[in-house]
Amino acid sequence: MEPLKDHSIEFTGLKDGLHEFRFVLGQPFFDATAEEEWQGGQVAMHVTLEKSSTLLVVDMTATGTVNVHCDRCDGPLDQAVKGEQRQIFSLSGGEPTDDDELVNLDEKAHSINLTHYFYECLRLALPIRHVHAAGQCDPEVEKVLNKLIVEHDPTPDPRWEILKDLQNKERSS
Ligand SMILES: [Zn+2]
Repeated sequence: MEPLKDHSIEFTGLKDGLHEFRFVLGQPFFDATAEEEWQGGQVAMHVTLEKSSTLLVVDMTATGTVNVHCDRCDGPLDQAVKGEQRQIFSLSGGEPTDDDELVNLDEKAHSINLTHYFYECLRLALPIRHVHAAGQCDPEVEKVLNKLIVEHDPTPDPRWEILKDLQNKERSS
């Protein structure tokens, strides 16, 4: 997804050592993702950045909710998310790579943008299947679903059971 300018960290002015940042992912972020499933949400991103002369080690922790649709009743559902991700940036000016874990920054780079990594972190944190807690689904849809389940899973007709019993007896006699 396109980087959002709010998610940039200027690292050139930072001293070596640990630095903390907080970001809030709200509607602008969710609108910018291409995830049709994500209607919105509110996620706090806590970021620590450890700077040394050669590396930036970024640890992200996501906590919050993402608004999705329930897989069962299709009603709105606030899915709780909690996730962690680490991303390492090399400052030694190697060739740019697409390595997932280690990104070689251009020698002239003075900032990193975290939008893409926030997105990755959330995508991994969200369960594949999201459904309301028991009894929380849309009651109207629930009624229809229950009816369908009954129609598709009939309890065996007792008369068949009696017939089967008779057949078994005949066979064994
Ligand atoms: Zn539901």
